Amino acid sequence: MTYPATTGDFRRPRDPAPGPAYERSAVIDLEAIRHNVRRVAAAAAPARVMAVVKADAYGHGAVPVARAALEAGARWLGVAHIAEALTLRAAGIDAPLLAWLHTPESDFGAAVAAGVDIGCSGWELDRIVAAAREQDRPARVHLKADTGLGRNGATIDAWDQLVGEAQKYQNEGLLRVVGIFSHLAVADEPHRPETDEQLTAFREVLTIAEDAGVVPDVRHLANTPAALSRPDTHFDLVRVGLGIYGMSPFEGQTSAELGLRPAMTLRTVVSHCKDVPAGQGVSYGLNYRTVGASTLGLIPLGYADGVPRVATGGPVRVDGVTYPVAGRIAMDQMVIDLGGREVSAAGKSLLGAEAELFGNGADGGPTADDWARAAGTNNYEIVTRISPRVPRRYINESETPLVPISRSMKRPV
Ligand SMILES: *Cc1c(COP(=O)(O)O)cnc(C)c1O
Repeated sequence: MTYPATTGDFRRPRDPAPGPAYERSAVIDLEAIRHNVRRVAAAAAPARVMAVVKADAYGHGAVPVARAALEAGARWLGVAHIAEALTLRAAGIDAPLLAWLHTPESDFGAAVAAGVDIGCSGWELDRIVAAAREQDRPARVHLKADTGLGRNGATIDAWDQLVGEAQKYQNEGLLRVVGIFSHLAVADEPHRPETDEQLTAFREVLTIAEDAGVVPDVRHLANTPAALSRPDTHFDLVRVGLGIYGMSPFEGQTSAELGLRPAMTLRTVVSHCKDVPAGQGVSYGLNYRTVGASTLGLIPLGYADGVPRVATGGPVRVDGVTYPVAGRIAMDQMVIDLGGREVSAAGKSLLGAEAELFGNGADGGPTADDWARAAGTNNYEIVTRISPRVPRRYINESETPLVPISRSMKRPV
């Protein structure tokens, strides 16, 4: 028996060349990133945009995303860990850059040396000052208040003291209070009253700081949902993650309705395609059985690639048709029931056909939101968990239009 050579038939212009990254990849559209940054910047103006690129830019790749975001007008970058910030600095990115989640093991000295701004909720202050002394360089600090989220940030009760100590060290030239910030808990649910309460508390902490003589360059509170829906939370800077990746933070509103474009497409190719009789069990547990004689398509992505194991029924689009995943998702693979269809619209075997799990949704295709629903989670988690085993491929890398050779080679007369 011979098998048709199919791979070439299904490749589209934007697909990577044959090889591991063609077999499976997360394709990241950097023009979508730039578009989303411009969209968010317009909504936030006159406040500036901090592009949040923690967790490897929510799975999209921190360095290329940071570069694209800065090209499109983001003025700041934000990450959780100092180690993430140092990776960006090592790549030559010198934009203002804030890291806000530390442990006593964090390398504050390296942060000060690299000119990384450090979020400070209280206990970090002494370490930061020690690092500044050691580096003989003032630290750049953003004081963080807990206005209701209950994670890090100084409580209102501890705020006076934190501000007082920071002021003292600032006068000694050991640090500069560059920012004051807090984080919102429920901005993705605009009807809830707690955002107003947090906003009131934030104004209060700003007043306390000001009365103590601490006037920061930037005050920041808003995340993506607040940047898009609550201008009164914008202050000087909005910290935007999800939105620059093109996804909606709101339950009832799509990316398109918000003017955003999802930047990540997760795709692979069908790795096996075969006819089976009625009653064929599918995958571990045999939780799915074919109703009639059918054709099964094997999709070579699984939970080791970051596709949630619980997401049975999640969508996979092959040759223009979207199929739900049949049976359990395994470590490396999952199965779709092609319902007796074994050839493409063009009459080719579906072996090697592209299989898209999610993309920008523009053409009615599956989205990360669909996978979030299937997995009982949010779109943040779907994209962020795509594992390092999946090669990232970047398209539309530079917005600088290529200068036609004939023109660029022309010498000035
Ligand atoms: C992750 C994070 C953000 C970004 O949140 P999005 O909802 O993705 O915009 C902003 N601020 C802080 C402190 C964060 O941890």
